[in-house]
Amino acid sequence: MRRWLFADQLGPHFLDDPDQPVLLVESTRVLARRRFHRQKAQLLLSALRHRARELGDRCDHRIGATYGEAVADYGEPLEVPDPTSWAARRFVTDLPGVTVVPTAYTATSRDDFSTWAHGGTDQGHSDGHGDGRWDGHGDGARGGTGGRRRLLMEDFYRWQRRRFGVLMDGDSPAGGRWNFDHDNRHPPPRRAHLDLPEPWSPSETEVDAEVREHLDRLERDGHAQFRGVDGPRRFAATRAEAGQALDWFVRHRLADFGPYEDAMLAGDWAMAHSTLSPALNLGLLHPLEVVAAAEQAYRRGEAPIASVEGFVRQVLGWREYVWGIYWWAGEDYADRNALGARTPLPRWFDDLDADAVGAACLSDVLAGVRERGWVHHIPRLMVLGNWALQRGYDPRALTDFFHESFVDGYAWVMAPNVVGMSQYADGGLMATKPYAAGGAYIHRMSDYCGGCRYHPSHRLGEDACPFTAGYWAFLDRNAGALAANPRLRRPLAGLARLADRAAVTAAEHRRGAGPP
Ligand code: SF4
Repeated sequence: MRRWLFADQLGPHFLDDPDQPVLLVESTRVLARRRFHRQKAQLLLSALRHRARELGDRCDHRIGATYGEAVADYGEPLEVPDPTSWAARRFVTDLPGVTVVPTAYTATSRDDFSTWAHGGTDQGHSDGHGDGRWDGHGDGARGGTGGRRRLLMEDFYRWQRRRFGVLMDGDSPAGGRWNFDHDNRHPPPRRAHLDLPEPWSPSETEVDAEVREHLDRLERDGHAQFRGVDGPRRFAATRAEAGQALDWFVRHRLADFGPYEDAMLAGDWAMAHSTLSPALNLGLLHPLEVVAAAEQAYRRGEAPIASVEGFVRQVLGWREYVWGIYWWAGEDYADRNALGARTPLPRWFDDLDADAVGAACLSDVLAGVRERGWVHHIPRLMVLGNWALQRGYDPRALTDFFHESFVDGYAWVMAPNVVGMSQYADGGLMATKPYAAGGAYIHRMSDYCGGCRYHPSHRLGEDACPFTAGYWAFLDRNAGALAANPRLRRPLAGLARLADRAAVTAAEHRRGAGPP
């Protein structure tokens, strides 16, 4: 039967056999509905059109119709791999003549995750995380009745390692420990960049030129509006390119991934990150092949265990965990708003207007999103997300912002990461406390503050750091809602002792919604 593939199902593992006929639909309406980053639209359409070319005669490639129109017009039964969002799943399930088949998008199916969440495959527990710093994993969701008490990411990750035999020496974790966080996540070195080879990047093809022209036309004719700037495509759009990108990362950058995975340098946009998330999220790579390539580098002695474990943790742990939580938490998860945050995203933020912003960290991160549609996980969560949390931005609007602005943003990725992890809008389902942080965190983990007009430790006055003042104003505004949280006992006690509490919150109030 012909297989209908969405634009995030483009790898060979979405077909039963390489000769299977395929339907690809390029729906213009999707671009009209949302204000995507221009480079995201370029990447998605480029990937879809490259795939159509590769498939040649076996591909029925329809441009311009809606999904429903294309399927109705095709007129014969179709199969579609289970899509990656609740909305798309509902849509395909309701379409006559369409059969939903299991997807190979992730290593963990929704059933696998449910089984684990209900404690059905328990193989021991970690001791969790309790040091209160941002750990890149969240703490883990609270289990339902009859299941695990908490769905700890660390437990899930170890279960993944065991069941897939990744970085295992018999029954023991390779290197003798499950977790090398202690060796990783250092502040940045005292230099402008890490001195590594640049991340892999493609040469554009004629398909890219065609897509660029198409997007120019849509924009000119008022059929699409974009965020960010156009620019050379930076990320893999084909299976072959994705393989090259993976190989390049493993050979040239993986060894340095761990130590600085949480650090930010103004002069080094990618640090030692893989920049493979766009290819993974387009379905061009399977997560298990990615972690296998990293493990092989360790086994060959080409990358230290700490970096390889840190990377495997992100791909086989955190990414799969987020996927599981997205389905496990239910369709209304993206609308949760436990702290009652209702501030609309200000225009300058939504428009990525970095030039309007004086705060060095926020300006640089917004500029990175504007120029590339990609910044790594710490700028996303500890600069953009932290800023939004402090100002009470509407979590749903913020989720849409992340989904549309990032080249690797999809509903399933952004709902747990934004609503749960970054905004605490699920009331602590995913994280045990809100990840609000003042300027001291950014100062420690970046080189931004030295060149900033503000001072990270000042909370009042002309040079008061908006992240530091915003941190205290956030606690002040939400003190009642957070009072019962044991992990906030110390910060709230600190707030109560703050002699200038009223002045700080009043100054923050006066700052209003304008750019800092
Ligand atoms: Fe950001 Fe504050 Fe540091 Fe400026 S002083 S870079 S606003 S954390």
